[in-house]
Amino acid sequence: MNFNVGVIKGDGIGPEIVTEAMKVLDAIGAKFGHSFNYTQILMGGCSIDATGEPLTDEAIQAALSSDAVLMGSIGGNTSTSPWYKLPADKRPEAGLLKLRKSLNLFANLRPAYLYNELKEACPLRDDIIGDGFDMMIMRELTGGLYFGERSTKEEDGQLVARDSLTYSETEIRRIAKRGFDIAMKRRKKVTSVDKANVLDSSRLWRKIVEEVAKDYPEVEYEHMLVDNCAMQLVKNPRQFDVILTENMFGDILSDEASMVTGSIGMLSSASLNDTKFGLYEPSGGSAPDIAGQGIANPIATILSAAMMLRYSFDLDAEASSIEAAVKKVLADGYRTIDIMPQEADKRASVTQVGTAAMGDLIVERL
Ligand code: NAD
Repeated sequence: MNFNVGVIKGDGIGPEIVTEAMKVLDAIGAKFGHSFNYTQILMGGCSIDATGEPLTDEAIQAALSSDAVLMGSIGGNTSTSPWYKLPADKRPEAGLLKLRKSLNLFANLRPAYLYNELKEACPLRDDIIGDGFDMMIMRELTGGLYFGERSTKEEDGQLVARDSLTYSETEIRRIAKRGFDIAMKRRKKVTSVDKANVLDSSRLWRKIVEEVAKDYPEVEYEHMLVDNCAMQLVKNPRQFDVILTENMFGDILSDEASMVTGSIGMLSSASLNDTKFGLYEPSGGSAPDIAGQGIANPIATILSAAMMLRYSFDLDAEASSIEAAVKKVLADGYRTIDIMPQEADKRASVTQVGTAAMGDLIVERL
Protein backbone atom coordinates (compact mmCIF):
# COMPACT_ATOMS: atom_id res chain seq x y z
CA MET A 1 0.00 0.00 0.00
CA ASN A 2 0.97 3.67 -0.46
CA PHE A 3 0.93 6.11 2.42
CA ASN A 4 1.49 9.87 2.40
CA VAL A 5 3.42 10.88 5.46
CA GLY A 6 3.91 14.54 6.38
CA VAL A 7 7.30 14.94 8.02
CA ILE A 8 8.10 17.74 10.46
CA LYS A 9 11.78 17.41 11.25
CA GLY A 10 11.74 20.58 13.34
CA ASP A 11 14.63 21.95 15.37
CA GLY A 12 17.52 20.76 17.53
CA ILE A 13 17.81 16.96 17.46
CA GLY A 14 14.54 16.77 15.44
CA PRO A 15 16.17 16.27 12.00
CA GLU A 16 18.61 13.66 13.39
CA ILE A 17 15.97 11.49 15.07
CA VAL A 18 13.37 11.77 12.30
CA THR A 19 15.94 10.70 9.70
CA GLU A 20 16.37 7.43 11.64
CA ALA A 21 12.61 6.87 11.89
CA MET A 22 12.29 7.37 8.10
CA LYS A 23 15.12 4.88 7.59
CA VAL A 24 13.15 2.33 9.65
CA LEU A 25 9.89 3.09 7.79
CA ASP A 26 11.61 2.59 4.44
CA ALA A 27 13.00 -0.75 5.62
CA ILE A 28 9.49 -1.77 6.73
CA GLY A 29 8.18 -0.69 3.32
CA ALA A 30 10.75 -2.88 1.57
CA LYS A 31 10.02 -5.87 3.84
CA PHE A 32 6.22 -5.71 3.75
CA GLY A 33 5.64 -4.18 0.30
CA HIS A 34 4.49 -0.66 1.21
CA SER A 35 5.68 2.70 0.05
CA PHE A 36 5.86 5.79 2.21
CA ASN A 37 5.84 9.09 0.33
CA TYR A 38 7.19 11.91 2.44
CA THR A 39 6.22 15.59 2.32
CA GLN A 40 8.53 17.82 4.34
CA ILE A 41 6.64 20.37 6.42
CA LEU A 42 8.26 23.34 8.15
CA MET A 43 7.26 24.07 11.72
CA GLY A 44 8.89 25.72 14.74
CA GLY A 45 12.14 27.67 14.74
CA CYS A 46 13.18 26.51 11.26
CA SER A 47 9.88 27.85 9.91
CA ILE A 48 10.38 31.17 11.72
CA ASP A 49 13.80 31.47 10.09
CA ALA A 50 12.42 30.63 6.63
CA THR A 51 9.03 32.40 6.67
CA GLY A 52 8.77 34.57 9.80
CA GLU A 53 5.93 32.34 11.11
CA PRO A 54 6.16 29.20 13.30
CA LEU A 55 3.54 27.50 11.08
CA THR A 56 2.21 28.82 7.78
CA ASP A 57 -1.21 28.08 6.24
CA GLU A 58 0.58 26.12 3.50
CA ALA A 59 2.19 23.94 6.16
CA ILE A 60 -1.23 23.27 7.76
CA GLN A 61 -2.63 22.35 4.34
CA ALA A 62 0.28 19.98 3.73
CA ALA A 63 -0.38 18.31 7.10
CA LEU A 64 -4.12 18.09 6.36
CA SER A 65 -3.51 16.40 3.03
CA SER A 66 -1.20 13.75 4.56
CA ASP A 67 -2.44 10.41 5.90
CA ALA A 68 -0.47 11.06 9.10
CA VAL A 69 2.34 13.31 10.31
CA LEU A 70 5.61 12.18 11.85
CA MET A 71 7.34 14.85 13.86
CA GLY A 72 10.71 15.30 15.59
CA SER A 73 10.58 18.19 17.98
CA ILE A 74 10.58 21.94 17.85
CA GLY A 75 12.06 24.82 19.78
CA GLY A 76 15.48 25.93 20.91
CA ASN A 77 17.27 27.00 24.04
CA THR A 78 14.58 29.12 25.72
CA SER A 79 17.18 31.35 27.45
CA THR A 80 19.50 32.07 24.52
CA SER A 81 17.62 31.50 21.25
CA PRO A 82 16.38 34.67 19.47
CA TRP A 83 13.10 32.79 18.78
CA TYR A 84 12.15 33.40 22.44
CA LYS A 85 12.48 37.17 22.10
CA LEU A 86 9.47 37.10 19.74
CA PRO A 87 5.87 37.62 20.97
CA ALA A 88 4.33 34.40 22.39
CA ASP A 89 2.20 33.74 19.28
CA LYS A 90 5.28 33.90 17.03
CA ARG A 91 7.47 31.48 19.01
CA PRO A 92 8.18 27.90 17.90
CA GLU A 93 5.69 26.26 20.32
CA ALA A 94 2.85 28.41 18.95
CA GLY A 95 3.20 26.42 15.73
CA LEU A 96 2.56 23.13 17.53
CA LEU A 97 -0.49 24.46 19.39
CA LYS A 98 -1.88 25.85 16.12
CA LEU A 99 -1.29 22.52 14.37
CA ARG A 100 -3.01 20.53 17.14
CA LYS A 101 -5.98 22.88 17.01
CA SER A 102 -6.20 22.95 13.20
CA LEU A 103 -6.17 19.15 13.07
CA ASN A 104 -8.59 18.74 16.02
CA LEU A 105 -6.23 16.36 17.80
CA PHE A 106 -8.29 15.59 20.90
CA ALA A 107 -6.78 12.25 21.96
CA ASN A 108 -3.25 11.98 23.25
CA LEU A 109 -1.64 8.58 23.72
CA ARG A 110 1.51 8.02 25.71
CA PRO A 111 2.72 4.48 26.23
CA ALA A 112 4.69 3.73 29.39
CA TYR A 113 6.61 0.52 28.80
CA LEU A 114 9.44 -0.76 30.93
CA TYR A 115 12.08 -2.64 28.94
CA ASN A 116 13.67 -5.51 30.83
CA GLU A 117 17.15 -4.26 29.84
CA LEU A 118 16.45 -0.77 31.22
CA LYS A 119 14.94 -1.90 34.50
CA GLU A 120 17.64 -0.19 36.50
CA ALA A 121 16.46 3.22 35.22
CA CYS A 122 13.12 2.55 36.95
CA PRO A 123 12.99 4.14 40.40
CA LEU A 124 10.57 1.49 41.72
CA ARG A 125 11.56 -1.54 43.83
CA ASP A 126 12.26 -4.85 42.05
CA ASP A 127 9.30 -6.58 43.70
CA ILE A 128 6.99 -3.86 42.33
CA ILE A 129 8.49 -3.94 38.85
CA GLY A 130 8.21 -7.75 38.64
CA ASP A 131 8.45 -8.73 34.99
CA GLY A 132 7.82 -5.14 33.87
CA PHE A 133 4.78 -3.12 32.86
CA ASP A 134 3.18 -1.92 29.66
CA MET A 135 0.44 0.70 29.84
CA MET A 136 -1.05 3.38 27.64
CA ILE A 137 -2.16 6.72 29.03
CA MET A 138 -5.02 8.07 26.94
CA ARG A 139 -5.53 11.75 27.71
CA GLU A 140 -8.24 14.09 26.44
CA LEU A 141 -6.30 16.98 24.90
CA THR A 142 -8.62 19.76 23.77
CA GLY A 143 -11.17 20.24 26.57
CA GLY A 144 -11.41 20.54 30.34
CA LEU A 145 -9.68 22.94 32.68
CA TYR A 146 -6.98 24.08 30.25
CA PHE A 147 -9.54 25.31 27.72
CA GLY A 148 -12.25 26.64 30.06
CA GLU A 149 -13.04 30.27 30.83
CA ARG A 150 -10.65 31.89 33.25
CA SER A 151 -10.38 35.19 35.02
CA THR A 152 -8.52 37.01 37.77
CA LYS A 153 -10.54 39.87 39.32
CA GLU A 154 -10.45 41.97 42.38
CA GLU A 155 -13.34 41.19 44.70
CA ASP A 156 -13.81 42.63 48.18
CA GLY A 157 -10.34 44.12 48.18
CA GLN A 158 -8.43 40.98 47.10
CA LEU A 159 -7.60 39.17 43.89
CA VAL A 160 -9.73 36.12 43.08
CA ALA A 161 -8.77 33.72 40.27
CA ARG A 162 -11.18 31.31 38.55
CA ASP A 163 -10.68 28.47 36.05
CA SER A 164 -13.64 26.50 34.76
CA LEU A 165 -13.68 22.81 33.89
CA THR A 166 -16.22 21.94 31.21
CA TYR A 167 -16.85 18.70 29.33
CA SER A 168 -19.70 17.91 26.95
CA GLU A 169 -21.12 14.43 26.31
CA THR A 170 -19.69 14.58 22.77
CA GLU A 171 -16.19 15.35 23.99
CA ILE A 172 -16.27 12.51 26.51
CA ARG A 173 -17.85 9.99 24.15
CA ARG A 174 -15.29 10.48 21.36
CA ILE A 175 -12.27 10.07 23.66
CA ALA A 176 -13.88 7.11 25.46
CA LYS A 177 -14.48 5.36 22.12
CA ARG A 178 -10.87 5.95 21.18
CA GLY A 179 -9.76 4.53 24.54
CA PHE A 180 -11.81 1.35 24.11
CA ASP A 181 -10.67 0.99 20.47
CA ILE A 182 -7.05 1.18 21.62
CA ALA A 183 -7.75 -1.36 24.39
CA MET A 184 -9.10 -3.76 21.73
CA LYS A 185 -5.66 -3.64 20.08
CA ARG A 186 -3.98 -4.32 23.45
CA ARG A 187 -4.85 -6.39 26.54
CA LYS A 188 -8.52 -5.29 26.54
CA LYS A 189 -8.64 -3.48 29.86
CA VAL A 190 -9.64 0.16 30.46
CA THR A 191 -9.21 2.04 33.73
CA SER A 192 -11.24 5.24 33.50
CA VAL A 193 -9.85 7.84 35.90
CA ASP A 194 -11.94 10.66 37.35
CA LYS A 195 -12.82 12.50 40.54
CA ALA A 196 -16.50 11.55 40.54
CA ASN A 197 -16.76 11.82 44.33
CA VAL A 198 -16.38 15.62 43.96
CA LEU A 199 -16.74 16.90 40.40
CA ASP A 200 -19.86 17.10 38.20
CA SER A 201 -17.67 16.88 35.07
CA SER A 202 -16.30 13.58 36.41
CA ARG A 203 -19.78 12.22 37.12
CA LEU A 204 -20.75 12.93 33.51
CA TRP A 205 -17.42 11.40 32.41
CA ARG A 206 -18.24 8.21 34.34
CA LYS A 207 -21.82 8.01 32.95
CA ILE A 208 -20.68 8.37 29.32
CA VAL A 209 -17.78 5.93 29.73
CA GLU A 210 -20.28 3.36 31.04
CA GLU A 211 -22.49 3.91 27.99
CA VAL A 212 -19.54 3.53 25.61
CA ALA A 213 -18.32 0.41 27.46
CA LYS A 214 -21.56 -1.39 26.50
CA ASP A 215 -20.37 -1.40 22.87
CA TYR A 216 -17.15 -3.18 23.88
CA PRO A 217 -18.25 -6.33 25.76
CA GLU A 218 -14.79 -7.88 25.36
CA VAL A 219 -13.12 -5.03 27.22
CA GLU A 220 -12.90 -5.24 31.00
CA TYR A 221 -13.28 -1.77 32.51
CA GLU A 222 -13.15 -0.12 35.90
CA HIS A 223 -13.40 3.38 37.37
CA MET A 224 -10.65 4.74 39.58
CA LEU A 225 -10.40 8.04 41.44
CA VAL A 226 -7.45 10.12 40.29
CA ASP A 227 -5.80 10.31 43.72
CA ASN A 228 -5.92 6.54 44.01
CA CYS A 229 -4.57 6.18 40.44
CA ALA A 230 -1.56 8.40 41.25
CA MET A 231 -0.83 6.05 44.14
CA GLN A 232 -1.48 2.81 42.20
CA LEU A 233 0.93 3.88 39.44
CA VAL A 234 3.84 3.54 41.86
CA LYS A 235 2.33 0.80 44.05
CA ASN A 236 1.26 -1.64 41.35
CA PRO A 237 1.79 -0.34 37.79
CA ARG A 238 1.39 -3.83 36.35
CA GLN A 239 -2.40 -3.70 36.90
CA PHE A 240 -2.88 -1.10 34.11
CA ASP A 241 -3.45 -1.53 30.40
CA VAL A 242 -5.25 1.60 29.07
CA ILE A 243 -5.71 4.52 31.46
CA LEU A 244 -8.45 6.76 30.06
CA THR A 245 -8.70 10.22 31.54
CA GLU A 246 -9.44 13.92 31.08
CA ASN A 247 -6.97 16.64 30.21
CA MET A 248 -5.46 17.80 33.51
CA PHE A 249 -5.49 14.39 35.21
CA GLY A 250 -3.84 12.94 32.09
CA ASP A 251 -1.21 15.68 32.02
CA ILE A 252 -0.09 14.77 35.52
CA LEU A 253 -0.53 10.99 35.37
CA SER A 254 1.28 10.64 32.02
CA ASP A 255 4.36 12.38 33.42
CA GLU A 256 4.24 10.18 36.50
CA ALA A 257 3.90 7.06 34.34
CA SER A 258 6.74 8.10 32.04
CA MET A 259 9.08 8.79 34.95
CA VAL A 260 8.83 5.21 36.12
CA THR A 261 10.09 3.95 32.74
CA GLY A 262 13.46 5.72 32.69
CA SER A 263 14.71 7.82 29.77
CA ILE A 264 12.77 10.47 27.89
CA GLY A 265 14.56 9.25 24.75
CA MET A 266 12.47 6.04 24.82
CA LEU A 267 8.98 7.57 25.08
CA SER A 268 6.78 7.81 22.02
CA SER A 269 3.44 9.60 21.72
CA ALA A 270 0.52 10.10 19.38
CA SER A 271 -2.23 12.69 19.07
CA LEU A 272 -5.33 11.57 17.18
CA ASN A 273 -8.55 13.08 15.88
CA ASP A 274 -11.79 11.29 14.98
CA THR A 275 -10.47 10.08 11.64
CA LYS A 276 -7.51 7.77 11.15
CA PHE A 277 -5.22 10.80 11.04
CA GLY A 278 -2.61 11.26 13.78
CA LEU A 279 0.43 13.32 14.72
CA TYR A 280 3.23 11.09 16.01
CA GLU A 281 6.17 12.46 17.97
CA PRO A 282 8.62 11.61 20.74
CA SER A 283 7.62 12.86 24.19
CA GLY A 284 10.87 14.77 24.63
CA GLY A 285 11.81 18.17 23.27
CA SER A 286 14.44 19.37 20.81
CA ALA A 287 17.32 18.81 23.27
CA PRO A 288 19.39 21.83 22.08
CA ASP A 289 22.14 20.79 24.53
CA ILE A 290 23.02 17.75 22.41
CA ALA A 291 21.78 18.83 18.94
CA GLY A 292 24.14 18.24 16.01
CA GLN A 293 26.39 15.84 17.95
CA GLY A 294 24.89 12.61 16.56
CA ILE A 295 24.28 11.22 20.06
CA ALA A 296 20.50 11.69 20.52
CA ASN A 297 18.41 8.59 21.13
CA PRO A 298 16.17 8.01 18.06
CA ILE A 299 14.14 5.18 19.68
CA ALA A 300 11.20 7.34 20.87
CA THR A 301 10.76 8.65 17.32
CA ILE A 302 11.12 5.18 15.81
CA LEU A 303 8.49 3.87 18.25
CA SER A 304 6.28 6.84 17.34
CA ALA A 305 6.55 5.73 13.71
CA ALA A 306 5.46 2.24 14.87
CA MET A 307 2.41 3.84 16.56
CA MET A 308 1.64 5.58 13.26
CA LEU A 309 1.64 2.23 11.47
CA ARG A 310 -0.65 0.68 14.10
CA TYR A 311 -3.14 3.48 14.75
CA SER A 312 -3.31 5.43 11.47
CA PHE A 313 -2.54 2.71 8.92
CA ASP A 314 -3.79 -0.45 10.73
CA LEU A 315 -0.45 -2.16 10.04
CA ASP A 316 -0.20 -4.10 13.31
CA ALA A 317 2.32 -6.71 12.17
CA GLU A 318 4.62 -4.02 10.80
CA ALA A 319 4.37 -2.00 14.04
CA SER A 320 5.09 -5.11 16.12
CA SER A 321 8.10 -5.85 13.95
CA ILE A 322 9.61 -2.42 14.81
CA GLU A 323 8.86 -2.86 18.51
CA ALA A 324 10.47 -6.31 18.49
CA ALA A 325 13.56 -4.93 16.71
CA VAL A 326 13.92 -2.22 19.39
CA LYS A 327 13.71 -4.86 22.14
CA LYS A 328 16.27 -6.99 20.32
CA VAL A 329 18.75 -4.13 19.93
CA LEU A 330 18.54 -3.42 23.68
CA ALA A 331 18.88 -7.13 24.48
CA ASP A 332 21.97 -7.22 22.25
CA GLY A 333 23.54 -4.59 24.49
CA TYR A 334 23.42 -1.42 22.36
CA ARG A 335 22.69 1.88 24.12
CA THR A 336 22.68 5.56 23.26
CA ILE A 337 24.31 7.83 25.82
CA ASP A 338 21.07 8.66 27.68
CA ILE A 339 20.33 5.02 28.49
CA MET A 340 23.87 3.95 29.39
CA PRO A 341 24.03 2.35 32.85
CA GLN A 342 25.54 4.49 35.61
CA GLU A 343 27.78 1.86 37.22
CA ALA A 344 31.20 1.18 35.61
CA ASP A 345 30.85 -2.65 35.67
CA LYS A 346 27.47 -2.49 33.92
CA ARG A 347 28.78 0.05 31.40
CA ALA A 348 31.46 -2.42 30.41
CA SER A 349 28.85 -4.98 29.40
CA VAL A 350 27.07 -2.76 26.84
CA THR A 351 28.11 -0.83 23.72
CA GLN A 352 27.49 2.88 23.37
CA VAL A 353 26.35 3.96 19.89
CA GLY A 354 25.26 7.19 18.23
CA THR A 355 21.96 8.17 16.61
CA ALA A 356 22.58 6.84 13.09
CA ALA A 357 24.18 3.59 14.32
CA MET A 358 21.15 2.94 16.55
CA GLY A 359 18.87 3.42 13.52
CA ASP A 360 21.00 1.01 11.47
CA LEU A 361 21.03 -1.61 14.24
CA ILE A 362 17.23 -1.51 14.48
CA VAL A 363 16.89 -1.81 10.68
CA GLU A 364 19.21 -4.86 10.73
CA ARG A 365 16.89 -6.55 13.25
CA LEU A 366 13.58 -5.95 11.45
P1 NAD B 1 14.13 18.33 26.27
O1 NAD B 1 13.20 17.17 26.32
O2 NAD B 1 14.47 18.85 24.92
O3 NAD B 1 15.49 17.96 27.02
C1 NAD B 1 15.54 17.55 28.37
C2 NAD B 1 16.78 16.66 28.58
O4 NAD B 1 16.53 15.39 27.96
C3 NAD B 1 18.04 17.23 27.92
O5 NAD B 1 19.16 16.95 28.73
C4 NAD B 1 18.15 16.47 26.62
O6 NAD B 1 19.46 16.33 26.16
C5 NAD B 1 17.53 15.12 27.00
N1 NAD B 1 16.88 14.48 25.84
C6 NAD B 1 15.69 14.78 25.28
N2 NAD B 1 15.45 14.00 24.24
C7 NAD B 1 16.51 13.17 24.12
C8 NAD B 1 16.87 12.14 23.21
N3 NAD B 1 16.07 11.77 22.21
N4 NAD B 1 18.04 11.51 23.39
C9 NAD B 1 18.86 11.83 24.41
N5 NAD B 1 18.59 12.80 25.31
C10 NAD B 1 17.44 13.48 25.16
O7 NAD B 1 13.48 19.48 27.17
P2 NAD B 1 13.92 21.01 27.36
O8 NAD B 1 15.41 21.12 27.39
O9 NAD B 1 13.11 21.48 28.49
O10 NAD B 1 13.38 21.75 26.06
C11 NAD B 1 14.18 22.06 24.93
C12 NAD B 1 13.30 22.68 23.86
O11 NAD B 1 12.35 21.69 23.39
C13 NAD B 1 12.48 23.87 24.33
O12 NAD B 1 12.46 24.84 23.31
C14 NAD B 1 11.10 23.29 24.55
O13 NAD B 1 10.07 24.25 24.41
C15 NAD B 1 11.05 22.28 23.41
N6 NAD B 1 10.06 21.20 23.58
C16 NAD B 1 9.43 20.79 22.44
C17 NAD B 1 8.54 19.75 22.50
C18 NAD B 1 7.89 19.30 21.23
O14 NAD B 1 8.41 19.57 20.17
N7 NAD B 1 6.78 18.60 21.29
C19 NAD B 1 8.28 19.09 23.71
C20 NAD B 1 8.97 19.51 24.86
C21 NAD B 1 9.87 20.58 24.78
